[in-house]
Amino acid sequence: MNAFDDHHPPRPDLVADCVHCGFCLPTCPTYVLWGEEMDSPRGRIHLMRQGLDGEPLSDSMAQHFDRCLGCMACVTACPSGVRYDRLITDTRQQVERRHPRTRRERLLRAAIFGLFPYPRRLRLLRGPLRAYRASGLRRLVARTKLLPRLAPSLAALESLAPRLTRPERLPRRLPAVGTRRALVGMLTGCVQRAFFPDVNAATARVLAAEGCEVLILPERQGCCGALSVHNGRDAEARRFARALIDTFEGAGLDHFVVNAAGCGSALKEYGELLADDPVYAGRAAAFAARVRDLSELLVELGPVAPRHPLPVTVAYQDACHLAHAQGVRAQPRALLAAIPGLTLREIADPELCCGSAGVWNVLNPEPAAELGERKARDVLATGAELLVTANPGCMMQIAAAVQRIGATIALAHTAQLLDASIRGLDVEQLLRTASRPSPTGSR
Ligand code: SF4
Ligand code: SF4
Repeated sequence: MNAFDDHHPPRPDLVADCVHCGFCLPTCPTYVLWGEEMDSPRGRIHLMRQGLDGEPLSDSMAQHFDRCLGCMACVTACPSGVRYDRLITDTRQQVERRHPRTRRERLLRAAIFGLFPYPRRLRLLRGPLRAYRASGLRRLVARTKLLPRLAPSLAALESLAPRLTRPERLPRRLPAVGTRRALVGMLTGCVQRAFFPDVNAATARVLAAEGCEVLILPERQGCCGALSVHNGRDAEARRFARALIDTFEGAGLDHFVVNAAGCGSALKEYGELLADDPVYAGRAAAFAARVRDLSELLVELGPVAPRHPLPVTVAYQDACHLAHAQGVRAQPRALLAAIPGLTLREIADPELCCGSAGVWNVLNPEPAAELGERKARDVLATGAELLVTANPGCMMQIAAAVQRIGATIALAHTAQLLDASIRGLDVEQLLRTASRPSPTGSR
């Protein structure tokens, strides 16, 4: 059986764009880890070529595709403009439909995709998680060191769970402060909503302070489909995308704002995701054209809310799906640098993924831990008091890695710094609301 069927195989013309120069290799986290050609962008494109030429989808071919984090560092690095993003998206849905998984893989995937894209189910976990931490069971589990050996994916999940704060209830609609400059919708997300509600609350306040009326409709919105599309589950992704478009389409929005990098990159590709759908194709493309990362929109609008000093040293971490997939690097830095008193530090090897990559760190716990610890050391080497990033997955991954190497650092989203500066909070108040690696046994 050929590797690919006729439903969106990787496009031969895009495969042919690769001139095998190898410029992408040093930025590819799997190539950096293992030095294997077939675990590099160039190697994976070669495998796609073989698949198009009639080779079967072998276990080893599927594994090399599975091991790709989808970080898109290779897209940034490629001087020939190879659309690896398009190629791997098409390849993944082929692998997902056509490659038989083992029973263990099927069970793990069923658990992940039955939980993560459902904010209400995730929210139900908050109580048991708090109880688990409060009971001291976590300390006991850590002391036995058995979990990583018996169930590495479960151990990865356990280590990633953030310290939970009391969630702030989001209104359906938040009026603009002063003159209204735009009507914007806001994505609440799944992990962001369940585990980082402070980030959503800060995002809404900052938008309102900058003159945006914010339409949130928390009771009506679900997953945007990012996790599904990034893992080849495109039918599921299309279902989520249609529902989100239905929720906001008639509201007359000027923009739809996203504060999570992975979600933003998926939303901007709704036009491609639903291109075959006769009812939604045009609507999806129109919706996608309104999508903005929070930092993009704030820079586009320009500031009106006065900033108060925030004398704190921060390191800014480029989330891959913001920097590589959306090309948004300058805007968050500009917003942070404009906060009086704030010192911004850069992290070494900024193009290299932290190993989070959606659920890649749960599916591939050992290499993900290695990448996470590498990133954690680079972050700590900056001497910053606070790590700022724009993706909940990166926050959890780096927090867990920092904790494993026995260090500590506060973590926050760009929105939380802007919110603190606009509201005139002091650094101590900001650091109290920031996330922290949760010490074993604490909550
Ligand atoms: S997306 Fe990331 S992991 Fe995948 S081939 Fe490109 S650089 Fe490597
Ligand atoms: S993907 Fe781009 S950078 Fe990488 S080998 Fe091909 S042409 Fe060169």
